[in-house]
Amino acid sequence: MYITHTFSAPVKVTVYIFLFIYSSAHATDQWADTPYPIPELLKANAETCSMSVDGWGYNFSDLEKNLHHWAQSPFVLVDSIGQSIQGRPLYLLTITNGLIPAKRSAEIITDKPRVFIHARTHPSEVQSSRIATEIITFLLDTTLASHTLREKFVFNILPMYNPDGVELGCERVNAADINLESAFDANPLQPETAALKGAFQRAMNSENPIRVALNLHSSKNICRRFFFFHQANGTSEAFAGLEKDFIRDVQYYFPGGIEDWNLFTSWSNSTPSVYPESFFWNNYAETVMALTFEDINDQDPSCPIAGAFDSTAKALILGSADYIRKHSPFASTKTPPPDSPFPGPIHSTPHGLFFPLLNSAEYEGRPWKLFTPHGKLIAKGVLQEGTLIFNPDTTPTGPLIFLLAHNRKLLSRLFIIPNNLTDNPW
Ligand SMILES: [Zn+2]
Repeated sequence: MYITHTFSAPVKVTVYIFLFIYSSAHATDQWADTPYPIPELLKANAETCSMSVDGWGYNFSDLEKNLHHWAQSPFVLVDSIGQSIQGRPLYLLTITNGLIPAKRSAEIITDKPRVFIHARTHPSEVQSSRIATEIITFLLDTTLASHTLREKFVFNILPMYNPDGVELGCERVNAADINLESAFDANPLQPETAALKGAFQRAMNSENPIRVALNLHSSKNICRRFFFFHQANGTSEAFAGLEKDFIRDVQYYFPGGIEDWNLFTSWSNSTPSVYPESFFWNNYAETVMALTFEDINDQDPSCPIAGAFDSTAKALILGSADYIRKHSPFASTKTPPPDSPFPGPIHSTPHGLFFPLLNSAEYEGRPWKLFTPHGKLIAKGVLQEGTLIFNPDTTPTGPLIFLLAHNRKLLSRLFIIPNNLTDNPW
């Protein structure tokens, strides 16, 4: 546990922040006492999720430790797109140069092409979290390559899509015994899937939509790294050609490390609707290179080539960058959905303008609320002289989301780590 500060009420926090002005149609939805329903704690299926050891490795606490470290970087914004069934935040990192103001605002306005990577759908596939970790480490590095990547692109990384499954020791399912990988069109959606789908759709509706979407997995029995190639019958000839280009671009940076496109082909007779890649193909066609990547089980002693997560991470990122550079954005052959029916608990779409709160008297007396990253309201009040004073209902034990509203519209949201609350400024 990395939170060291214990609250003693009242807590006084001086706000030295810049605000985004939001004028999204969703904004009023975000300003409810419970912006996302808090579900009952569900019991995991005892047979499916019965690992008695300390889990598969790289657990939720490992992720939160890393988040605390990563959050120190000026190039990263730590956020949550929602929560799991058992209430664990679905952490999302946004990495780019020029976050304005550094780390404090939840959305960025940029025309940089976007790469979206999610990992750890299947809890036993711990290698996917290790690659995600190496990707984040690489992108936050001080090297010229990392700087250039941040300068040219924006990266969204969800390192743990199924934190309940990881904590419960499930092999492939979440706390409701659902395999999230093949539940992207389920009705109703699992909370995790609704949150990810919403994040995808908000990104696609932004000024800089997703160009490459990678879904990181690891296969137990195949001693190879490879992509699931979607055949032209289930996509298009054009897309199949682009997939081959993309895979070659990634292979270039890890010679011999990643298999050719034809190791595993799928969608040979039809287009499935259940996968994240289905969502991208069915709604956005060639505009998004959406692929599943399979790493290798590095616990298997008969597979000596396993591991090398750093090489894999760099190849995935540099290959994605090359692919985007080479191919200007495609006109979609599909009519994409106009708006997200899957709002996350704390998101909105930003438009323009930011300015110092302290210099703006118009925020005086505006209501604010403080939520946990999974949407539980823990405090609220009104701004007084740029200062929040509140008595938290419960002692915060993790990161918090601060929301400021005006006339039921969301003006600002900030990600806060509680032990910074005593610092001044934040
Ligand atoms: Zn998997």
